[in-house]
Amino acid sequence: MHEISLCLSTMELIEQQARQHGARRVTAVWLEIGALSCIEEQALRFSFASASRQTLAEGCQLHLNYQPARAWCWDCSTSVAVERHDAGCPHCGGHALRIESGESLRLKQLEVE
Ligand SMILES: [Zn+2]
Repeated sequence: MHEISLCLSTMELIEQQARQHGARRVTAVWLEIGALSCIEEQALRFSFASASRQTLAEGCQLHLNYQPARAWCWDCSTSVAVERHDAGCPHCGGHALRIESGESLRLKQLEVE
């Protein structure tokens, strides 16, 4: 389960940003999950809750957004959206894809008070 380590590093970023804004508390967090990151929503929510304990973000709302991944297709020389690792190019059906994004977790937005 890699969700917990992702959450711990995301939490560092959240606290850093919250402090920069002089926030006393983080009330909501928006995370963007790449479709190819293999992150499970339930595991992520659970890990986030434990990682946020005793931080400014304890008890905050967590909004999750899955984003399709982007890949470069060598066969038809196009940048395409892919949903799964084993999916081919939606244009030509080829599998010569180089994944460009969508394998990670990103902090999108914070709401603080
Ligand atoms: Zn293609």
